[in-house]
Amino acid sequence: MSLLPLEALAWNYWWSWAPDGAAIFRDLDPELWQDCEHNPRQLLARISPYRRAEAASDPVYLQRVQRLAQSFDTYMKADRVSRDAITPEHPVAYFCAEFGIHNSLPLYSGGLGILAGDHLKSASDLNLPLVAVGLLYRYGYFRQRLRNDGWQEEHYGETHPNDLPLTLLNDADGKPLRIEVLIRERNVLAQVWRADVGRVTLYLLDTNMPENVETDRWVTGHLYGGDRETRIVQEMLLGIGGVRLLRQLGVQPHVFHLNEGHSAFLTLELAREVIQAERRSWTEAVDVVRRQCVFTTHTPVAAGNDEFDPALVMRVFSSSYLRELGLTEDAFLGLGRVDPNAKTERYGLTPLAIRMCRSTNGVSRKHGEVSRALWQKLFPGKAVADVPITYVTNGVHTPTWTSPLLRWVFEKYMGQDWDAKLLDQAAWNEAVAKISDEDLWFVHSSLKERLIAFVQSRAETTAMFDPAALTIGFARRVAGYKRWSLLLTDRQRLLRLMNNEERPVQFIFAGKAHPQDEGSKKVLQELAQWKYEPAVSRRAVFLEDYDQEIARQLVQSVDVWLNVPRRPQEASGTSGEKVAINGGLNLSILDGWWMEGYDGTNGFAIGNGNDGAGVAQIDAGDAESLYRVLEQEVVPLYYNREQGLPRQWIAKMRRAIQTLAPQFNSNRMVEEYARKIYP
Ligand SMILES: *Cc1c(COP(=O)(O)O)cnc(C)c1O
Repeated sequence: MSLLPLEALAWNYWWSWAPDGAAIFRDLDPELWQDCEHNPRQLLARISPYRRAEAASDPVYLQRVQRLAQSFDTYMKADRVSRDAITPEHPVAYFCAEFGIHNSLPLYSGGLGILAGDHLKSASDLNLPLVAVGLLYRYGYFRQRLRNDGWQEEHYGETHPNDLPLTLLNDADGKPLRIEVLIRERNVLAQVWRADVGRVTLYLLDTNMPENVETDRWVTGHLYGGDRETRIVQEMLLGIGGVRLLRQLGVQPHVFHLNEGHSAFLTLELAREVIQAERRSWTEAVDVVRRQCVFTTHTPVAAGNDEFDPALVMRVFSSSYLRELGLTEDAFLGLGRVDPNAKTERYGLTPLAIRMCRSTNGVSRKHGEVSRALWQKLFPGKAVADVPITYVTNGVHTPTWTSPLLRWVFEKYMGQDWDAKLLDQAAWNEAVAKISDEDLWFVHSSLKERLIAFVQSRAETTAMFDPAALTIGFARRVAGYKRWSLLLTDRQRLLRLMNNEERPVQFIFAGKAHPQDEGSKKVLQELAQWKYEPAVSRRAVFLEDYDQEIARQLVQSVDVWLNVPRRPQEASGTSGEKVAINGGLNLSILDGWWMEGYDGTNGFAIGNGNDGAGVAQIDAGDAESLYRVLEQEVVPLYYNREQGLPRQWIAKMRRAIQTLAPQFNSNRMVEEYARKIYP
């Protein structure tokens, strides 16, 4: 027995969702683990000889290492399961501009990236053959700090691939593999890093090479940080470079999955291949491409879709590329326009993707509906209901997001192979019914105490954050439609609720505003200043730098998760799903996933789910409903104790797990893609 297996474990993100995976690294040196931002390669490189020797002579620890290494072996040895035409030789190729695999790999900014990460983990768990393609940003999304006056400041930490479990790919001659894409009339080179996510491989393109001119080295500089030109250039690299990479590796995907429009240029590259290799016409090539490509849209508002000035598009694509496609400039630009002949229309990646893919889907039932209406204009003559856009509701990776303590309870009642039964409604019903009120409340209370301690360590408030008080989490991007200010509509009423001596309510906030979004920064500042008022500060706290780690702490432990988007702009939302799996109760506008999830017994609904009326009226109505539900339903239910336990509340927690966990997980989502979309 030795510590040696830890080195191999550190090279595959599987550890991050394996039972005892994170704990095994943490227990080597908890402080250093924090310092290394939970990056095991860093930890192993920096651990002191004494701590290492101590662990290496601890039989209990060594046994844990051995057990984890054995599970990993078993996991990796399982044969890939072919499904219809999806085989290891012809896998799914999953393209996305961001991936949120783990906090130590900061290649994501929010929901889209986390969803992509969860998709890969479930594909791995389900043994579905899939490879993923993305970009390695030198500076991932920014870190957030609030100044004393509440104004958000951004700073960027550099990603050092050599400190991470990333391997530079070599070609057959042992030289670094290179991808070339002609961008802005220059050949831009990209090297390729490989990350292992269980059985799934994620390839990351990176232009930070000395052979490139300085500007081109910065193509993969920042995630969404640059201007429009940087963005389109990144998208060329992802789409065109991604296809070239797979070809160099000899991967012949059965299907290309465009997760959001950022990778839509891959369809052009596929067409170019067909035209060049087989001397086909553009129209014939489109047929071939469409058969291989599927598209998931995530944006329910027109303005959220990626669009470019046509002159910019022409500046970054070379005329030789158009020639190889056999397209005139007008025909080329028309591909990205709703009306191909409207010369003033901008070039959108969503129209391009919808045109070039055989299937388009939204990410919840409601979002499917909204997308059909939004994109009907691409299907002249079709009624909205007949627009061929379907939906697959988003889900979350249960092993990643379930607290270890609750996981232990699930394993106790559902068996060690608990995570193989995630879709088994009957198994969940039966198991969760067996958990006693006392046990469920004990688990939840322990996690809440952990959360309060975490808050106190992060926010340096020793003040009065109280583990017994009803605790509401509100963490999400600060963007207009998320309506951060809705809660503050009537501050006096809110303060009465918070400061009730017998039945206090406390809030934990977290979230980032886009660096260029002054309006959202003002909203954040307003909230930050509000919380300095003495009546507020002991019952509300803002955690800076919302990331996957803060999300994990919050979703596993809060009593209530609040979400107040302006309908119908929350395409799906996934953070509430993470909360539900952990027995937290959602208090949310009926939008996105919650429209499908809420059944009257498993959480709380704000508003009546009607659209219509003006924005101001809707906001006022929703605010009123929010306060009323809090005052009349949430608070009384939480504080209504029988023998010291909120039994009716616990009954709702049980309902939340039973009804929501089997549905809103990413195994169900990936299964649905494999059944409905990929074949
Ligand atoms: C889950 C998650 C999201 C997505 O949350 P929604 O607000 O539901 O869209 C965003 N950021 C992080 C860090 C997450 O973990």
